[in-house]
Amino acid sequence: MTYIPYRDPNSIVMLAGPCAVESLEQTQEVAVMLKEQGLRWIRGGAFKPRTSRYSFQGLGEQGLAILQQVGAEQGLKTITEVIDTPHAEMVHSYVDALQIGARNMTSYSLLKKVSAITGESHKPVLFKRGMAATIDEWLMAADYVTADGNPYVMLCERGLRTFETSTRYTLDISAVPVVHQRSLFPVCVDVSHPAGQASLVPDLARAAIAAGADALMIEVHPNPKQAKSDGPQQLTCQQFVDLLASLRHLAAAMGKTII
Ligand code: PEP
Ligand code: MN
Repeated sequence: MTYIPYRDPNSIVMLAGPCAVESLEQTQEVAVMLKEQGLRWIRGGAFKPRTSRYSFQGLGEQGLAILQQVGAEQGLKTITEVIDTPHAEMVHSYVDALQIGARNMTSYSLLKKVSAITGESHKPVLFKRGMAATIDEWLMAADYVTADGNPYVMLCERGLRTFETSTRYTLDISAVPVVHQRSLFPVCVDVSHPAGQASLVPDLARAAIAAGADALMIEVHPNPKQAKSDGPQQLTCQQFVDLLASLRHLAAAMGKTII
């Protein structure tokens, strides 16, 4: 397994931002808030892997340009999902880190492409667990991403498809200590997609920190009711600010800082 030089036991990286980049104003509003909170990253989807062909598919390259502009304005690093091989170089050129989504965990040609591109740039890659993948399958798939020498790969648990319907997905909190035991990869927990509803996000975020997560992913939108994707699970900026204050106490009790 590849050695990860950047797993920092004293910090938790917050990857927050809208599900999708919808406009300059929407992305700016979230970015200003993240900067004010002393955070370093903003997330936002430009190419959205939607279950329905008729749902909002993202702004594409225009969304990447917005994310890049907003990141530069606020001094935030940017992360976005790459969903297919032909666009991989273009997406990579706009952002500081790439995300491989749950639906693509076993898209091996995409994994090889991302490995080749980031093997040179060493930009971080957030590698999500497939919604029906075992931890062994996920760890084996991660080797495709690190194969060309990019050690900066972080795994991201985002919930599994189970018989339970009270949540959108079942968050496998055990994945955090299991991956830590079996590998040197840092582990992110995306608490928004398993929750499926904003009211569950705070408790899942606290659980992720308590389990030892190295990073959290949380979706935030200035007006979730108007969001073009995943509205019910996105926090308002104020809800996020309040949650972050509470998470900082928990992190501090564990000797960690949220950055
Ligand atoms: C996302 O983070 O925007 C996303 C689509 O998540 P997932 O791949 O986990 O469904
Ligand atoms: Mn989403």
